[in-house]
This record gives sequence, structure tokens and C-alpha cells, in this order.
Amino acid sequence: MKVIVLGGGLMGTASAYFLARRGLKVTLVERNRVGSGATVASFGNIRRSGRYLPQLPLAHRSLSLWRKAEAILGQDVEFRVTGHLRLVFGQRGLASMRSFIEAAGPWGLALDELDMRDVRARFPGVGPDAIGASFSPEDGSGNPRLITPAFAAAAARLGAEIVEQVEVGAVSKTAFGFEVKSSKGSFSADVLLNTAGAWGAQIAARFGEAVPIEASGPQMGVTEPLPYRILPVVGAWGGDGIEGYFRQVERGNIVFGGGVVRTEVALEPGHAKADPARLSLQLRKLLPLLPALAKVSVIRTWSGCEGYVADGLPIMGPSATTPGLFHAFGFSGHGFQLGPGVGDMMAELIATGQTEVPLHDFRIDRFTETFS
Ligand SMILES: Cc1cc2nc3c(=O)[nH]c(=O)nc-3n(C[C@H](O)[C@H](O)[C@H](O)COP(=O)(O)OP(=O)(O)OC[C@H]3O[C@@H](n4cnc5c(N)ncnc54)[C@H](O)[C@@H]3O)c2cc1C
Repeated sequence: MKVIVLGGGLMGTASAYFLARRGLKVTLVERNRVGSGATVASFGNIRRSGRYLPQLPLAHRSLSLWRKAEAILGQDVEFRVTGHLRLVFGQRGLASMRSFIEAAGPWGLALDELDMRDVRARFPGVGPDAIGASFSPEDGSGNPRLITPAFAAAAARLGAEIVEQVEVGAVSKTAFGFEVKSSKGSFSADVLLNTAGAWGAQIAARFGEAVPIEASGPQMGVTEPLPYRILPVVGAWGGDGIEGYFRQVERGNIVFGGGVVRTEVALEPGHAKADPARLSLQLRKLLPLLPALAKVSVIRTWSGCEGYVADGLPIMGPSATTPGLFHAFGFSGHGFQLGPGVGDMMAELIATGQTEVPLHDFRIDRFTETFS
């Protein structure tokens, strides 16, 4: 069976790798460079806490693949099991944390509840005015610059054809399968996998499938390096006015995000830009999480274009109109963690026609009633 994977972000390259590992012939077509879309802009959080509960089986599967990433990809993609600390600053945050901990248990996610004595002893300097926290010891982070090229290179070693920097024209169904016309020639295959990120709804629309999606860009920044002291990724349970998240990389820099509204992005050309005017507000919101931020210089800010589906959930699974077409797009703030699992699961679905991952909530035709 031949598969064209359209879009070479984390979802597309991971799918290409797992499809090739199952012995399928794969051509991945990426109009820019692999990994240059939302994925490279990611904060790099590999977090399961706070996630939509029916997504947890896929998140667990993905985490187990992140653990093996260095072995299967043949390079260190800086996956580190540092844990995910999520601070609580008031009664609303406390209530959401406790109800999530209770609800997530049956889905196989165990979070520890810490009191402030634990937080101070284990994570000095972090959240001095917090009243508690959750800790997810098996979560962590990875390097968004490394993971996608690593999946693409590993897929290529297994025989996948990786076509980059190409203008993509018509994408259509033919009598024998699918055809993608491009500035580097036409590609045809039995199966088409749409992993075009924020642009995925444009591809779906060509096959009569409407998905309400909006593109926007979360704002990120990084500081000068400081002595490496803070291991976990740190965030906050919402509801009490404190927002944002940060992590310290081994080189010492503090990467941060959240706390300000996302900037609007036009899908063409799809370049998301950070707004420097929002930086001071963002840092002020982050100070309760890490007061030391008041004294450091920010050396770079950035953003990335991601697609927010109206109900906040991605599209994953077969097309509802076109046999042989599959979709995995519309991942917003949760997609970096899910990427390896999505690639593995989509490859399983395409190669075998089934998967144990519950996909009902992510089906593409869930919006049909709204649209008709
Ligand atoms: C600033 C920021 C921070 C984030 N932080 C986190 C985080 O900490 N944790 C987390 O889990 N998630 C995070 N995310 C979300 C995560 O990065 C994304 O959900 C994930 O990377 C999406 O991957 P993707 O492959 O679907 O999309 P993309 O990486 O955008 O890839 C889609 C690709 O398709 C290509 N394409 C589009 N149209 C076509 C076409 N017609 N033909 C060929 N190619 C096409 C694009 O060029 C692009 O390269 C963050 C996102 C952003 C923007």
C-alpha cells in the first residue's frame, strides 16, 4: 500500500516513520521545511495533567514512545522526565485540581497532591505564595527543534520519500486513489493522510468536509541563562488570576509562555509573530510562579501558527466522505505531547483498519449537524 502524508510537522513525520516501519511505501509532502510549522514554535511541554480525559489513552501511548524516542530515532531529542508541577493559588484552582485528580485516576493518570511545605522543600524559589500543587512525576519536556527532523530522518532511513520546499497544487481523488500535484511533479498513492496542521481544514474542505477552525499564535519567550536549578515544567491551575507556564532548559535559559491572549494569524502566509507590547504583561503574570524572573533579561520572543478547532479537540481518524482519506490535524496546545502517539496510532489505523485508541470524540463529522 502507498501513502501520501500531506504536511510535515510532528504529526506528519511521526506518521511517516510509523507507516514506513510497518512496511508501507510513504511519500511525505511538506510545502516548507519539515517541522517549520507549529511544532518548532512549541513550548515543548510533555504534559498529561489538565488534558481532555478521553484523550488520555493516546497521551499514555505517546508518553511511552517519547521514552523510547532516543532509541528508535537514533538521536537524543532532549526528552527529559523532569515531572510537571502545577501550582494552586486559590480556592478555584484547588477545586479544579482536586476534581481533575479524582477524575483522571480511572483513566490511568496518577497525580500527587503536594502541600506548600513539599513544594518549598523540593522546588525552592518556585511559587512562594501558592497554597498547594499537583505533581505528575512521569511527565516532562522535549526539544521542539529536534523531534520533527529526527522523525523525518528516521522515516527516510526506512525508505520513506521526504519532499520538502514544494508548491502544492491540486489534491484530488482519482480512479486508483489520490493524486497530489506539486512543483516537483505529481505524487499518487492509495491512501492520503492529511496532517496539514492549521491548514488541515483547507485540505478536508476539498473533500466536502467542513471543520470550524481558527488560526492563532500563542506567545513564547526565553531568558538569558541562569544557574540550572529548576527541574520540572511549572504551570498553574487556573481560576485565581495567575496564569502562564515556564521551564528551565539544561543550558540554564527559562522558556515561558501563556498569560496573554493569542495573536491572530492569517493562514496565508501563516507567519505568527510575537507582539513585543505584550511581553511586560506576560512577565507580570508569570512572576507569582517565579519571582526571580523580575531580574532577568528576555533574549528572544516568538510565536507559531496553530489551528484551534471550535470545540478545542483535534480531528483524528478516517474521512467521513472519502474512502482512503485520513485526517490528523487541528492540534492546538496539546499536540506536542501527543505527536508520537498520533503517528503510531494513525499508522496502525491505516495499515490494519483499526485501533484501540478511542477516536469517537475526534471524528471529523462531529460538526456536520452544525453546518447543515
Ligand atoms: C507557540 C506554541 C506553543 C506550543 N506549546 C505546546 C506544548 O508545550 N505542549 C504541547 O503538547 N503542544 C504545544 N503546542 C502545540 C503543538 O506544537 C502542535 O499541536 C503540534 O506541533 C502540531 O503539529 P502538526 O504536525 O499538526 O502541525 P504543524 O507543525 O503546523 O505541521 C503542519 C505542516 O503542514 C504543512 N502544510 C500546510 N499545508 C500544506 C499543504 N497544502 N501541503 C503540504 N504541506 C502543508 C505546514 O507547512 C506545516 O509544516 C504549541 C504550539 C505553539 C504554536
